[in-house]
Amino acid sequence: MSENDFSPSLIFRQNMLTQKLPGSGIDCIAINAGPMLTYLTGLSFHLMERPVVLLLPAGRPPAIILPELETAKLKGLPGGFQAFAYGEDPSTWPAVFREAVQFTGLEGGVVGVEPSRLRFLELSYLQAAAPQARFVSAEESLAALRMCKDAQEVSAMRRAVQIAQQALQATLPAIRPGLTERQIASELVIQLYRAGSDPELPFGPIVAGGPNSANPHASPSDRPLQAGDLLVIDWGASYNGYISDLTRTFAIGNVQPEYAHIAALVKEANQAGREAAKPGFPAETVDQAARGVIDRAGYGKYFTHRTGHGIGMESHEAPYIRQGNTLLLQPGMAFTVEPGIYLPERGGVRIEDNLVITPTGAECLSDLPRELLSIGS
Ligand code: ZN
Ligand code: ZN
Repeated sequence: MSENDFSPSLIFRQNMLTQKLPGSGIDCIAINAGPMLTYLTGLSFHLMERPVVLLLPAGRPPAIILPELETAKLKGLPGGFQAFAYGEDPSTWPAVFREAVQFTGLEGGVVGVEPSRLRFLELSYLQAAAPQARFVSAEESLAALRMCKDAQEVSAMRRAVQIAQQALQATLPAIRPGLTERQIASELVIQLYRAGSDPELPFGPIVAGGPNSANPHASPSDRPLQAGDLLVIDWGASYNGYISDLTRTFAIGNVQPEYAHIAALVKEANQAGREAAKPGFPAETVDQAARGVIDRAGYGKYFTHRTGHGIGMESHEAPYIRQGNTLLLQPGMAFTVEPGIYLPERGGVRIEDNLVITPTGAECLSDLPRELLSIGS
C-alpha cells in the first residue's frame, strides 16, 4: 500500500482495535515501529535510535510521536490524527512525549503494549511522561486483530509465494556436489531479489545439506554438498510487506533407502495436514493429522517441532499449529504446514507449504513439487 493512501481499511482496523479496548480493561494502545504500526497506519519506520510511538486511545483521536525528519510520511493521514514531532536534541523529547500523553489522556490509565516489540527506549519515555499509567500486555487483542487476512493481504501473500517459488526454480539448476550451503544461499538471495522480493527478506534462507539437514534451524555453512546428501532449503520472499515461508527437500544424486522412505512419509504428513485445514476446526487438528502419519510409521520422536505457524507481515505470528491450540480456524487465517523428520547426525526432510483458510476449506498458495527430487547429477 502507498504511504499516502490512508485507506478505509486502516480506519476499520483502528476501530476494530479501539472499540474492543474498554472490554479488555485497556485505555490506550502504544505501538512502536514495526509490522503492527504499519498494519494500523500504512506507515513504515525502521527501528532506530529515535523513538517512534503510535498511541491509539479508546474514544479519542490517535497520536503519533516521531522525529521531525520523518513527518513527510504523514501526508494523507486523516484529520484528527495528531502528530507530535521532535527535533534532533534528545533533551527536548520528554516534553513532546508529555504533550502526546496529554492529548491522548493516557496518564493514569492502562496502556496496552506489544511485549515482544516495545523497547526499553520507548517505554522509558512513555513512563516518564505518564508516571501514573500502568503498562500491560495487549498481545491477545493485537494478535487477534491481524489473524484473519483480507483479500488484499492474501493477494500480497500469494505474490510472495510466487516470487519465492520462481527464485528457487532459478537456483536449482546451479546446485551440484562441491557447492557449499553458503554459495547456494547467496545464489537464492540474488534470485529472490531478481524475482521481485521486497529488499527486506522475511528471514535468511536455510540451506542445510547432509547431517546439517537434521537441524531444523541450521544456518548455511561452508560444508560442500556431497552425493548422497539430503538438502533442505527453507526460504521466503516479501511482497508489499507480506511474506512467504516455504521448504523443499532434495536428494543430491542417489540417497539411501531410509531417506527416500522418510521423504515419502513427510510428503504424506504434509498432505494430511493440508487436508485437515478447514474452517470451524481447531488449529490442533492440523497438527494431529500431520503428526499422526509420522507417529504411525514409528518416526514420531524425530518430528521435533510444531506443524506450523501463522504468517502474514511476519514469519511467526498467530495462529500456531500445535497440539493444545483449540482456536477454531476461520476464513482468512494464514499459516504454514511444515512437518519434518530429522535423523540426528544423518539427515532430515521438511516440506513446508503456505495455506489460507477459505469459507469451505483452505487454499494452498504454494505448488512446487513435493516429491524427493534428485538434483545435482
Ligand atoms: Zn520455513
Ligand atoms: Zn515456517
